Amino acid sequence: MGAVKAMGTIWVVAATGIAGSVMKILGGVLYGSNTLFVDALTSVANMASLISILWFRRLAYTPPDSDHHFGHERFEYIGVLPMLITYGFVAGLSVARLYYVREYRVELNAFYLALAAMLMYGVAVASSRRAPPSLRAYGAFTVSELLEGLVGVVASLGGALYSYLVDYGGAVLLTSYIFYEIYEEGRRLSSFMADEAPPLEVYERVVETAESMGYNVESLRLRTIVPGRYHGDMVLQPKSTAPSDLRELRRVLQGRGVDVCIETEKLNS
Ligand SMILES: [Zn+2]
Repeated sequence: MGAVKAMGTIWVVAATGIAGSVMKILGGVLYGSNTLFVDALTSVANMASLISILWFRRLAYTPPDSDHHFGHERFEYIGVLPMLITYGFVAGLSVARLYYVREYRVELNAFYLALAAMLMYGVAVASSRRAPPSLRAYGAFTVSELLEGLVGVVASLGGALYSYLVDYGGAVLLTSYIFYEIYEEGRRLSSFMADEAPPLEVYERVVETAESMGYNVESLRLRTIVPGRYHGDMVLQPKSTAPSDLRELRRVLQGRGVDVCIETEKLNS
């Protein structure tokens, strides 16, 4: 995907996401739905997350320099950190609000706003499916936003027609879900921090390439920089007396996203 088209997608996701958030905030603040209030908080957190991800994403394209020898791709994932902090803050706010709640009234207008907000998020989710990886992570968030939106629609309607307790239940459900999201995103971030090994097919591809160019692979270690970009080292043994040039092998592997330091052993005779 071209950079211009990607930016276009990003703007559509941002605009529809912001519009949806504003509707939820109005439904929560003006028309008394606590479910929408909590949902609005998560939407605002979503927006803050999107901005932080986009901010760090710009840096991800910077070529390697003297202080980041392997490039800046991982900057893209630093954006997840502000996301986690924001979600933690929002979870705290929601718990505080729900703890001190008294009997309240939900107006039907909250339901209409919940419905409209969900439509907006539908557009955001559909657009983010065609977006770059970091934004797709945000897309996963908006899929959950869509489910949250559905809870908002049902709870605000139930709250307006039957009892505020229906709306209160929805708010408790959404608050619990924020904690679950914090856990999931935290796990994702941890896997990057822990230098996880790439999928098996990446290893197989490297071994096949080396073999096709006249080497046996004695050892190979790889770690993920970002999905699709790997770094590591390998020890090779030439199969024949005339294997391909090592620089050529390195170049081919680099073209496939694998940046390895290669060591060779003498051919056993
Ligand atoms: Zn740098």
